[in-house]
Amino acid sequence: MPKAHETLLEIDLNALDNNYKYITSKITPTTQMLAVVKAFAYGSDAVIVARELVTLGVNYFAVAYTKEGETLRNAAIDTPILVLHPLPVDFESIVNRCLEPSIYSRKTLSEFIAFAEANNQTNYPIHLKFNTGLNRLGFNESDILWIVKTLSKTKSVKVKSAFSHLAASEDLKLKEFTIGQIGVFRKISEKLIAQLGYKPLLHCANTSGIINYPEAHFNMVRSGIGLYGYGNDSEVNKYLKPVATLKTVISQIHEVQKNQSVGYNRGFIAEKTTKSATLPIGHADGIPRSYGNENGWVTIAGKKAPILGNVCMDMIMVDVTNIECEEGDEVIVFGPSATAEELAAAVNSISYELITAISQRVKRVICRK
Ligand SMILES: *Cc1c(COP(=O)(O)O)cnc(C)c1O
Repeated sequence: MPKAHETLLEIDLNALDNNYKYITSKITPTTQMLAVVKAFAYGSDAVIVARELVTLGVNYFAVAYTKEGETLRNAAIDTPILVLHPLPVDFESIVNRCLEPSIYSRKTLSEFIAFAEANNQTNYPIHLKFNTGLNRLGFNESDILWIVKTLSKTKSVKVKSAFSHLAASEDLKLKEFTIGQIGVFRKISEKLIAQLGYKPLLHCANTSGIINYPEAHFNMVRSGIGLYGYGNDSEVNKYLKPVATLKTVISQIHEVQKNQSVGYNRGFIAEKTTKSATLPIGHADGIPRSYGNENGWVTIAGKKAPILGNVCMDMIMVDVTNIECEEGDEVIVFGPSATAEELAAAVNSISYELITAISQRVKRVICRK
């Protein structure tokens, strides 16, 4: 890559290929692979990432919201798309764009069936979401009888899959809880299949579920963070490559004298002569204020430059006292060597939050490294 002359997010499709191959190496050839491309493919670029995954043979996509599915359809992606969190106001768009809704409550099932019938649909694919312990979205086991009875009265929809979501698949201290969740899901799916009389696809594993619980793969797995290069585990991270590299540039260098301050509200006060570099990236680009006051850092010429004082909306100032650098030099915020996981950990956050927060103001550059 040429050196960056502005703030940009590089998206390395070869890293994506590597991660896809690693994750699919953990599943059997008959297990289907669903790629989660919600939130702009975890802050990268949903259309570009989805197109690449299609060439790699992905079976399914999932997005959180209907609008995200529309974006993929507008880009002529015709792979099945599961919408994880549709709202009844979205049902028209769901059906118009051949998106497949997660149905998670009696209300959503009744309303979707009414909509599908009114629009003369038959066997419209739906996905039943079951709550097995996350207590976020989903039917409970006690709803099965009602679900099957409701479904028996209509030809408008057909259950394409039944699924659940693990609450702590990355945390092996909670292994017992996760094994319990998987057990509940198995019981629910057996009961459902017995009463439905046909076998929908079953799935409950996210990235860490794929890695840590092979017994939870069922017919399909759903990977998000792993595809983007983060495995929630240092051992797994060795095999994954971060897809996104956030870069910026030094706009200006200041020599700050002892007792002078840097930034809003005098957030940093120099105890000695300090060289600060001003960078064109701020909280409006996705660097939260919590990274200020030397909690977070960037990398310049291979060295850590802590963020001085408060993060501004459009800028940060970093300490380059001990770094040989000049105006115009490239700066790495995170990427394969200074990872988003490491940086996020400095403010008690996680890779997911940092990478998905990079705002749409930041230019995306697609590359293959
Ligand atoms: C976001 C999400 C995933 C992806 O999880 P990762 O930990 O990123 O692999 C899978 N399933 C559901 C229901 C999700 O909301």
